[in-house]
Amino acid sequence: MISFDNTEVAFRYKSNAGMMRAYYLFRMIASPGLVRLSKKLTYFALNLHLPIAWAIKPTLYRHFVGGESIAECEPTVKTLSKFNVKTILDYSVEGGKDAKTMERTLAETLHSVVNAGKNPDIPFAVFKPTAFASMEVLTHAALGGTFDAETTQGIRRFRDSVEKLSKTAWELGVPIMIDAEDSWYQLFVDDVVTEMMEKYNKEKAIVFNTLQMYRVDRHGFLKESIRKAGEGNYFLGIKFVRGAYMEKERKRAEEMGYPSPIHPDKAHTDAAYDAAIKYSVEHLERMVIFNGSHNEKSNRLLKELMNEHGLPKDEPRIWFSQLYGMSDHISFNLAEEGYNVAKYVPYGPVRNILPYLLRRAEENTSIAGQTGRELSLIVQEIKRRKNRKR
Ligand SMILES: Cc1cc2nc3c(=O)[nH]c(=O)nc-3n(C[C@H](O)[C@H](O)[C@H](O)COP(=O)(O)OP(=O)(O)OC[C@H]3O[C@@H](n4cnc5c(N)ncnc54)[C@H](O)[C@@H]3O)c2cc1C
Repeated sequence: MISFDNTEVAFRYKSNAGMMRAYYLFRMIASPGLVRLSKKLTYFALNLHLPIAWAIKPTLYRHFVGGESIAECEPTVKTLSKFNVKTILDYSVEGGKDAKTMERTLAETLHSVVNAGKNPDIPFAVFKPTAFASMEVLTHAALGGTFDAETTQGIRRFRDSVEKLSKTAWELGVPIMIDAEDSWYQLFVDDVVTEMMEKYNKEKAIVFNTLQMYRVDRHGFLKESIRKAGEGNYFLGIKFVRGAYMEKERKRAEEMGYPSPIHPDKAHTDAAYDAAIKYSVEHLERMVIFNGSHNEKSNRLLKELMNEHGLPKDEPRIWFSQLYGMSDHISFNLAEEGYNVAKYVPYGPVRNILPYLLRRAEENTSIAGQTGRELSLIVQEIKRRKNRKR
């Protein structure tokens, strides 16, 4: 059985100084009160256009982000690749979506697709739906009906952007993933992504949709997607995640008086995630599985299913992925064993990447005084290195 506890393998790519920096960072963000306060102060400073990069860049940014540009991420790509871990460069610019920003984001995302086409260490490209349309436009599009001129233009911009990116990805043979965000406009995103799959996934999975398994309806959607792919004779690319917007989803459902789209508890989400992985391995002739999870049990399950089905460790239709700066014990131990592993490495200017960084900080606060998993692994490795010196 694979052990995710080998911290020597997990942190081999980090120097002693890097380990100490990680230690102080995770100690700092372990405090929920401190993270809440920092979040308030950060948004306060942002609203007043005060400089904040000096505080964020050497701490959170340095740990979770590759750099401001693709060129700045290159050393990270090379370091990860030394340990058989691939990179997915994610231009993570969130918020402030005027037409000019969207144009710039499209140009940068196209650049990332072209760059991936030239670099075997970067096997996928990625983007978020809200990079190319406001939430309002996407919500209108999902609701349907008649649209005013501005919404019509917004919908067209979104479709054109997704088409351009998918076509470029197909021409260069670079698989491209579309992240999932809020459930209430995903219906429209699903439709556009499915159209792209029908067009560009005839020979192999180029366009990938994302399924958030915390949603109660996603198992049915998965089955239907596999059926459609069989009928339409194309390949399905699916990134599986549990889902990152649970609180927002529940709050909106409650405020607007509709049933929450999210499973009632963590156990149900976990069961749905694992069932989807199992079902997909059984239907691999039609699909590629991208397992985006930090959950040890789910990663272990996928590995065991591969073994049961007699699949090689480097089966090209199965990928494991974790976020840069998190769960290195899973990524590096799987890569060491020969599985296909890729880290999501976000990049972009400090100000624009802040929402992403604050989500990472919140995720790593300690619950009821317990030391978080990341921090305990870091402590374990620092101790191991100290003992070795004696
Ligand atoms: C490579 C990669 C790509 C990602 N891309 C996306 C993306 O496109 N869209 C997106 O939304 N997220 C994305 N995520 C984040 C992901 O959805 C999860 O938030 C995060 O990975 C934590 O889930 P986990 O499987 O790692 O493990 P765990 O830590 O075991 O699970 C935590 C998750 O379980 C669920 N959960 C927790 N408590 C409850 C509860 N009470 N009731 C119901 N469910 C609960 C939530 O989804 C929570 O995030 C991505 C993550 C990775 C690693």
